[in-house]
Amino acid sequence: MPDSLLNSPEVAIIGGGPAGLMAAQVLVRGGAHVRVYDAMPSVGRKFLLAGRGGLNLTHSEPADRFATRYGEAQAQVSAWLAGFGSTEVCQWAQALGTETFVGTSGRVFPKDMKAAPLLRAWLHELRLAGVRFSMRHRWTGWSEAGELRFDTPTGERRVSADVVLLALGGGSWARLGSDGAWVPWLAARGVAVSPLRPSNSGFDVAGANGQGWSDFFRSRFAGQPFKSVALRFSDARGRRFARKGEFVATDTGVEGSLIYAASALLRDEIEASGHATF
Ligand SMILES: Cc1cc2nc3c(=O)[nH]c(=O)nc-3n(C[C@H](O)[C@H](O)[C@H](O)COP(=O)(O)OP(=O)(O)OC[C@H]3O[C@@H](n4cnc5c(N)ncnc54)[C@H](O)[C@@H]3O)c2cc1C
Repeated sequence: MPDSLLNSPEVAIIGGGPAGLMAAQVLVRGGAHVRVYDAMPSVGRKFLLAGRGGLNLTHSEPADRFATRYGEAQAQVSAWLAGFGSTEVCQWAQALGTETFVGTSGRVFPKDMKAAPLLRAWLHELRLAGVRFSMRHRWTGWSEAGELRFDTPTGERRVSADVVLLALGGGSWARLGSDGAWVPWLAARGVAVSPLRPSNSGFDVAGANGQGWSDFFRSRFAGQPFKSVALRFSDARGRRFARKGEFVATDTGVEGSLIYAASALLRDEIEASGHATF
């Protein structure tokens, strides 16, 4: 292997969400030449949208309890959290000038409840460290010669890199850039890709009559938060969920932090039996 590849490889990171930006930060510090490509005119659009809800950065609960939130991936994620857990997330934000606080629910937020100042400071630091950015570059797969292919406003561009890191997000909120279009491209190259599934999602309710919320309920409560609620659920496989928190009624169902925390279990049950009752 050439020395340049070991010491300062050319790394192409495709996807400039928080995952791609964090990878860029670590790799550039390690001596790599890093360029971030993104389909959108600017990076971090979903991160900015998350800021509208105050940007819940992490949770203050003990590490062993925090890890249970990752469900079946708990063992794998625990190892990552041991290296970079909630304390490190807060230290990272603080180093970028964003102080954090712990809300009544135990969740951790920036004191200004905004994502934009944090993103601005992060991008400034990345640029100073040498990370380069190519926006409006939609990756469309590989050429026969193995180059990366991008659609750009000036036509197709082909790029070679020593290392390629895909940080493409999932398939939610496609208008912010993450459309999951890449799944078949990877599958065609023999890469095992887990099917994209909803996570941290809200749900439509069927209600007792199978009709969803009544007109009366919807007109009075859609958009309203319900606080100090306990959600209990156990599925056919004996997995249990019990937690207190809050949720929001929507036009057709429920969403919010307590629902999101239970959403993987509820999703699995709906996939298995068509419905879930909690
Ligand atoms: C309304 C809302 C509120 C949220 N609130 C919170 C919160 O409070 N706290 C929290 O932790 N999380 C929150 N999230 C979730 C959080 O935003 C995501 O988990 C996070 O953005 C995922 O980061 P990512 O880097 O993996 O993917 P993304 O942020 O989706 O970034 C992926 C990037 O890849 C780019 N891309 C995709 N395909 C291509 C392609 N073919 N070529 C080039 N570029 C491509 C996209 O343009 C995008 O910039 C919220 C999400 C939403 C929608």
